[in-house]
Amino acid sequence: MAFFWRRGKEDKFSTSVLGLDKSMEELKAQEEAVEKEIGVRFTKAIEKTRNSINNRLDTIFEGRKQIDEQLLDELEEMLISTDIGVTTTMQVLEAIRKGVSRQEISDIAALKAVMRKELLDILHASERKGVADETAVDMSIKPYVLMVVGVNGVGKTTTIGKLSQRIKNEGNGVLICAADTFRAAASDQLEIWAERAGVPIVQQKQGTDPAAVLFDALQAAKSRNSDVLIVDTAGRLHNKANLMAELEKMKRIAGREVQDAPHETLLVIDAVTGQNGLEQARQFTKVANVTGIVLTKLDGTAKGGIAVAIAKELNLPIRYVGIGEQVDDLMVFDPETYVDGLFS
Ligand code: GDP
Ligand code: MG
Repeated sequence: MAFFWRRGKEDKFSTSVLGLDKSMEELKAQEEAVEKEIGVRFTKAIEKTRNSINNRLDTIFEGRKQIDEQLLDELEEMLISTDIGVTTTMQVLEAIRKGVSRQEISDIAALKAVMRKELLDILHASERKGVADETAVDMSIKPYVLMVVGVNGVGKTTTIGKLSQRIKNEGNGVLICAADTFRAAASDQLEIWAERAGVPIVQQKQGTDPAAVLFDALQAAKSRNSDVLIVDTAGRLHNKANLMAELEKMKRIAGREVQDAPHETLLVIDAVTGQNGLEQARQFTKVANVTGIVLTKLDGTAKGGIAVAIAKELNLPIRYVGIGEQVDDLMVFDPETYVDGLFS
């Protein structure tokens, strides 16, 4: 997976001009290097979770000769402590019990293999819902409209900044829409990211109807022939009816201006808030038509198992994970890399 943003890449390969000063091969090599770098930092970001799992597994197995009920109890406690959730924990334990009774599990390695498989199954199942991939949308549709929703402070604006820069660096035209008009600071903060990324932004004064800002942005994206339009939104969950009406209106306008838009609605969840964040997210999925998840601040928790709980409970694919505050601290979520990071 050389490119961060794979949409439209085929076209660009065949018409490698497009005003890019780098050849596609150079760009690809550059992106591969960036991805590799990010992979290393990702492994580091979930180090706390991994260490916690490994330490507890060692303690659980120390001096034990067989897998008995007491060991399974301790294992249950360990799994719960990673925040993978109760239902997932039960599912994993069930698989382990089966393995033990068939005498397929006798050591940590075999046990980890079973846990790994169960978690991967859950993560892959969630990819069959929502929008798991930007290439799933008809390539002729432009701009690709991506709405970003979630409560305040979870990392929406930061994620949009990171996304814009990465997508732009790969030769795509990106436009940002500042539809969080509730707080003036939100637009200012987004403007800073836009400037840093060298990406144009459509914004209006505080209090403007978000749908009106979106309408302007859609027009601008069309006239600029932008590939991607990323829309920031306000995160007022305490006024549900209002939020729902606001998001509905935005969706209606997007769909009227661009076929099938919005193509993705990403719900941002802060990993540090764990199960509480998940509950909040559940509320959000009720009012917004969420198609995928961005899990931020994975670098700040030892309970990195939350990704599995989210995928299972919300039954939506995790699209990206945030692993820090810098522009490159965002990666495309990959179940294998994630699960390996937990157990390796
Ligand atoms: P918003 O209110 O949802 O738009 O959230 P912001 O984008 O303003 O982010 C809130 C805070 O979280 C800021 O201080 C960000 O720097 C920080 N943040 C966002 N994503 C990450 C992440 O992946 N890791 C860490 N450590 N901090 C993050
Ligand atoms: Mg914001």
